[in-house]
Formats: sequence, C-alpha cells, structure tokens
Amino acid sequence: MVRPHLSPTRRRLTVAAAVVAASAVAVTVTASAGASDTRDQARRAIQGGKAKNVILLIGDGMGDSEITLARDYTVGANGRLDMDKFPLTGAYTTYSVHKDGTPDYVTDSAASGSGWATGVKTVNGRISKTPGSDKAVPTILELAQKKGYATGSVTTAELTDATPAVLASHATDRSCQGPADMAKCPTDTIAAGGPGSIAEQSVNHKVDVLLGGGRQRFDQKVTDGKYKGLTVTQQAKRLGYQVITDDRQLRAVKGGKPVLGLFAPGNVPVEWTGKAAAKGGTEPQRCTTANPGRPAGTPALQDQASKAIKLLEAKQKATKSKRGFFLQIEGASIDKQDHAADPCGQIGETAAFDRAVKVARAYAAKHPDTLVVTTADHAHTSQIVPLDAQPPGLSSTLVTDEGQQLKVNYSTNTPGASQEHTGTQVRIAAQGPQAYRVLGVTNQTDLFGTVRDALGLRR
Ligand SMILES: [Zn+2]
Repeated sequence: MVRPHLSPTRRRLTVAAAVVAASAVAVTVTASAGASDTRDQARRAIQGGKAKNVILLIGDGMGDSEITLARDYTVGANGRLDMDKFPLTGAYTTYSVHKDGTPDYVTDSAASGSGWATGVKTVNGRISKTPGSDKAVPTILELAQKKGYATGSVTTAELTDATPAVLASHATDRSCQGPADMAKCPTDTIAAGGPGSIAEQSVNHKVDVLLGGGRQRFDQKVTDGKYKGLTVTQQAKRLGYQVITDDRQLRAVKGGKPVLGLFAPGNVPVEWTGKAAAKGGTEPQRCTTANPGRPAGTPALQDQASKAIKLLEAKQKATKSKRGFFLQIEGASIDKQDHAADPCGQIGETAAFDRAVKVARAYAAKHPDTLVVTTADHAHTSQIVPLDAQPPGLSSTLVTDEGQQLKVNYSTNTPGASQEHTGTQVRIAAQGPQAYRVLGVTNQTDLFGTVRDALGLRR
C-alpha cells in the first residue's frame, strides 16, 4: 500500500496530540523543575513563527544504534544524552535517487546532504546538483546568506567533505575537493567555465565561519582563473579570511572578518581510541578516552561550536543587521569510525558531538528564537547484539561506565572491507520555532523547507 504524505489536517492533529501530551505531563508529574522545563520547551517548540537563528547539528552516520551505543556506554541504559532531551522528536527517511529519479535505498552523505541542504534528492556522490541534468540547486546556506544572515559551517571532517560541501558548493562528484582533485568533475573546473573545486567554492562563497579539517586541500594550487598559482589558503586570505590552525588561535580570533579554521591536514583526529572489532570478537575492553594521536592544540568540536556562535553574533552586531545566523555543526567521524568497525572511536565521536548539542541547546535556552535541529544524514552498520551471539562479521565486547558488558557487531560488509551505511530511517529532534515540523515520519528533504520557513527564506 502506498501511504500519502501527512495532509495539513493530519499534521495539525499530530501537533494537537503533542500539546495534549505536554499538558498531560503537567497533570501526572509532580512539579519538579525538570518537568516544567520540558513542558515550557514543548509549548514553545510547538508554536510556529520565525526563528532568528538556526543551528543544525548533523551526526554523520548517527542512526539509532549509534545513539544507543553512546548512551549505554557513557551515561547508562537509563541515562539520557543531551541529544535525547529535545522536546520534539520524529523520524525521517534518507533514501537517495538514481539518475531517472527512482529510489536508491541507501544514501551516502553527499546525496543526503544535498537533500536537506536543497530540498532536492540526488544521486549518491553528487554535491547540491540535480540527479539527471547535473544542474546546481540553491542551498539553504546560499539563501540565508542572500537574505543577510551570517552563516557558518563546522565539522570534524575535511571542510571539503560531503556534509560541509553541500552547503557552500555544487559539484558533480564529492571527490572534487581541491584544485588537484577535479578528475570526476570536468564541467566544474574553472578552465571549463565552472565554479572550481569544493575548497575554492567554499571560500568564494565568503561563508563567515568555516571550521574543520582538510588543510591539505586548501594547500593545493589553483590552476586557472583569477587566483591561478596561489594556494586556496592564499586565495582565502585575498578574499579577506583570517586563517587559523589551532586551539590557541581559535580562542584569540575576533570577528569582523571571515574565519577559516583548518585544524588538521585531513580529518580531525578522533577523541577516543580502542581495539577495532575483530572476527570472533575482542576481549572485554574499556575505551581510551584520550587519543595519544590527537595533537595538543586540536580544538574540541564543542569549543568550535561555541566560538562559531560568538563569531556569527559578532558579525551581525558589527554590521547592525537585524538578522541572526545559520550554523551547521557536523560530527563527521561517527560515520568514519563506523566504516572502520571501531566502536571506541565511534562512541567517542558521538559523545563529542553530544557536547556540541549541549552548547547549541544552552544557547537556545537563552535565545528561544533559535531553532535547533539534531539529526543524522543516514544510518550505519553498528548493532548491539546479545553477549552470547556469534555473528559472522566483526564484533567487540565493551565494558560500559555502568560496569556491564555490551557486544557490538559490524556485519554490513565482509571483514576487512569498509562497513556500510544502511537504509534505515533516522531520528530528527528539534526545539524552537517550526520545530513541530519534525514530528511524525517525514522525508529528509522536508528539513530544507523547515529551515527555509523558519528563517523566512524564499526559493
Ligand atoms: Zn560514510
């Protein structure tokens, strides 16, 4: 049976039901501060209206398994992460499409990102361009920028990786990250009259705040056009960017000019380490919560998040703009550690992402005209299985903070190969103006409309 999308009437009923549920909480729960906080949050969240700011947090590959695993390990099975505390939660479908528009049931981060960033689904690997004709589609960041909002993008991946790329560039293939990486994007090169690599486009966009890894892409030399012979970093400086590379500089940098933070040559090194999952399992292990391979001076995602907010606010204050900001924050290596079947790496990155969620929610608590959305781009491979299970793939046994053993399995590909994304729907949770639109089961592309309407943008 084909189910139609929620009709407006049905959607109103869903919202009404949520209001009833929120008041029911008031009756049955004795008046603790926590309960009335949640009730107030729910009431505010259900109101529509315009947002001054939007903070969108994307846990790359952060399906329900990844959330549950991080919760079980860090705060316990009955504990709650910060991302669990949003007043409104729904689910959304993440499928991508083939060139002819038929569904491709398992997306990658490029197609899913293009979906939430533009409202248009595309083929895997594509960056904010249409599936068949390969035409650029305006992104939510571009629309926000046009209307005078300050804009920012923060990631633990390379700044040219798929999730930040979908906001500030358009490319035939996600691999076209620097001027030397253009093999799969012949029509996007500057020589061919295109906009150039993802790195070049990102700085040409003059996004106010760009923080992440991927310094090697920006160290590549531009091959054609106005900036020929310069590195992309030098191009960025010509465009007015302040370029920073470590935690000390991040703390010191002031607003007024755009900021490009490149905190690692490639992806930002992960927070935690441990034994990767293995065939036949591992001995019960505790994760190492300080990665010796993470250079001192590498800023934590939460610190990047709070500094990004401050810089965006400063920009709007300096220009006397009445508008607020749009900020995207990505926890990228949840996905990358899932691919590598490394449960400690994965949990550490989920916990780091959750601390960035806490920063966003603390800001929204003081600025209730901020829409905060936390979601994932797609689901992933890790599964929590019974301790006596003998799965054929890779597995590892962890000893959680509450002293119990937990077995995690990675079996979406042959051992030794990269483990795979899955096609399962993922959680989307929100608070603030228009947050009610995450309720029910929506489509990833609906998130574009939610942010667009919250900020009063037009396409
Ligand atoms: Zn992935």
